[in-house]
Amino acid sequence: MQPDMPHESRAMQRIYLDNAATTQVDPDVINAMTAVMHGSYGNPSSVHGFGRAARAEIEKARRRVSGHLHASPSEIFFTSGGTEADNMAIGCSVRDLGIRHIITSRLEHHAVLHAVQEQGKHRSVRISYVGIGSDGHVDLAHLEALLETEGRSLVSLMHANNEIGNLLDLKKVSELCRKHDSLFHSDTVQTMCHYPMDLRELDIDFITASAHKFHGPKGIGFLYVNSNITIRPMILGGSQERNMRGGTENLYGIVGLAKAMDIAHGHMEEHHGQIQELKSYMMLSLREAIPGVRFNGDAEGHSLYTVLNVSFPDTPISEMLLFNLDILGIAASGGSACSSGSNVGSHVIEELPQDGNRPAIRFSFGRYNTREEIDITVGHLESLLAKQNVKV
Ligand code: PLP
Repeated sequence: MQPDMPHESRAMQRIYLDNAATTQVDPDVINAMTAVMHGSYGNPSSVHGFGRAARAEIEKARRRVSGHLHASPSEIFFTSGGTEADNMAIGCSVRDLGIRHIITSRLEHHAVLHAVQEQGKHRSVRISYVGIGSDGHVDLAHLEALLETEGRSLVSLMHANNEIGNLLDLKKVSELCRKHDSLFHSDTVQTMCHYPMDLRELDIDFITASAHKFHGPKGIGFLYVNSNITIRPMILGGSQERNMRGGTENLYGIVGLAKAMDIAHGHMEEHHGQIQELKSYMMLSLREAIPGVRFNGDAEGHSLYTVLNVSFPDTPISEMLLFNLDILGIAASGGSACSSGSNVGSHVIEELPQDGNRPAIRFSFGRYNTREEIDITVGHLESLLAKQNVKV
């Protein structure tokens, strides 16, 4: 159940199952942010007391963020979110670190895919796409073969796919990259704060995060850059972020991000168990209620517990399921947030083996969801499809 929604109608219970697109800000995060808005409005670059107080908030937040990841504070650079952090890792690898070949997959988020393709267009960088199995997992044997033949490369592969939830074995990929003298960037936007991450154990060059995916504010994220690596800024201006990103820092966002991270890390096991239970329950309920329902990716295997991607039987109404759910007050998604609404379908689902024209819907769960919400959602889906002549 969502916490208070003061401006919304209470007549119909609204259900939010689109937590991979964004999450509701935790009220304690809002409190932490507003306290700083009231108390520390100085410019963090100013040398007077107001500025020093604001700077202290940022550095305190950086220490907490790096502490959760077992990284050093000097390895954390705050950005405007996941997209900027991904662009920075990829662009700087080419510009500053001599990368001329990038290995990625066609299932990456557009923040990575488009950033990689841009490098291919304008900086004569070659791009290889690693093979994907029918379950949506990266073919690690193919990755190794590419690394062997291509030599030093940047490997950019996401930790969890935002549409189907498949998880990558970061440790295995980082070992392959080291063996072949290559750099490894992983978009960890969907897994940050959902799994413990120990960067002392995991030899990785770049990871990225976005606070709005873990009950923090929008417009703030960070890039982790391994201390072995030296890159130059992409955004030029002042000497903020230790000369790595010009522009007055998003102080309130940074404080909110650190608070959201503290909360997530303080309750990680509990939230994991609760959300995993909802996902399993929805799979079970859908199987019982809707003959012919399919789960895309590796939903019961190595899969992110917050995401469930479902293909429904092909019926005249199937294309309209998302729309009908929305009318009933239920929010889910047909693709990533940036492609939903543009009606272009999902580039991830298109890469997977298709079985007929089965529209896919992504349901994504968070700690505010309940079993009752799953019951209501499955009940609505069942009655919407029951009105149709379902072809299984
Ligand atoms: N990477 C992944 C896997 C995402 O799911 C998203 C958000 O949808 C992003 C990157 C972009 O993050 P942001 O919205 O902070 O730019």
